[in-house]
Amino acid sequence: MKAAAIFGPGDVRMMEIEKPVPGPNELLIEVKACGLCSSELGMWVDSNFKTEEPIFFGHEVSGNVVAVGEGASKFAIGDRVTIFTDRGGYAEYVTVPEEWAIKIADHVPYDWAMGEPIGCAMNGTSRSGIEVGDTVVLIGVGFMGGLILQGIRLKGASRIIAVDTRPESLELARKLGADVIIDATKENAVERIMELTGYEGADVVIEATGKQGALDMGTEAVRIRGRLIIFGYHQGGKRTIDVQAWNWKGLDVINAHERDPQAYLKGIKTGIKLLESGQLVIEPLLSHYFELKDINHAFELAKSKPEGFLKAVITF
Ligand SMILES: [Zn+2]
Repeated sequence: MKAAAIFGPGDVRMMEIEKPVPGPNELLIEVKACGLCSSELGMWVDSNFKTEEPIFFGHEVSGNVVAVGEGASKFAIGDRVTIFTDRGGYAEYVTVPEEWAIKIADHVPYDWAMGEPIGCAMNGTSRSGIEVGDTVVLIGVGFMGGLILQGIRLKGASRIIAVDTRPESLELARKLGADVIIDATKENAVERIMELTGYEGADVVIEATGKQGALDMGTEAVRIRGRLIIFGYHQGGKRTIDVQAWNWKGLDVINAHERDPQAYLKGIKTGIKLLESGQLVIEPLLSHYFELKDINHAFELAKSKPEGFLKAVITF
């Protein structure tokens, strides 16, 4: 079967490897879609990273159950699933312990059912502590921010103020029903947020960019005793924070990630239920589709983010 492995920056190669066999309590999945994750981009651009051994990767996987290992009892051949895996989803087939597979309804397309990012966003939303009626600022409306924005609405925010600099993200915020959309290239976002909140600041600010500037903006835009939620994936160097401001304001600062696999699984199950019921939409968040053989090109675009780019998906 074909599988993609990374060897160094800009160097993902197509490999011909043996089709895996499901072990006890495992399933064999025929991969139908695998989302390209910005957490993988660090490796793809890192000039210090080089390996002789292939690293098989890709973790935002959905597909069909095509074989069932001994003892696996919860799934049947033909079931449509999303899986939580570190075994390499940029491949035609991948095995998974059945406890890490979640069924998806027939009406949900494979490319929508990317379990890992959906679970991550649902867990981030849960950890935000948003209360009914809160004014919430979301900084960064990319793919993950787009999921978070919907989570904020579901938690009962009275007003969602979305801040971004890219036209496609501002458009996405509009499509997803943000109440106020601030283009930070055109106006001073903090000043506008202050005006909108009677110069108190927002109850909750969620930073979903992974950038220094958003941490600074969030620190300024959140109210005294408010909650600053750090959701962005901060790769590529250390950040500085204004502890004096955090301390003076008495902020609750939450790093809104879960790394416990069980917590991940719970977030994925929640997200899939919302996807199936139509309360969570993915379609407007997906912008680029590629075949597996074009995966390097997909990473190039994920890095350069051309006009209109939000999220790339490899489909099979
Ligand atoms: Zn991911």
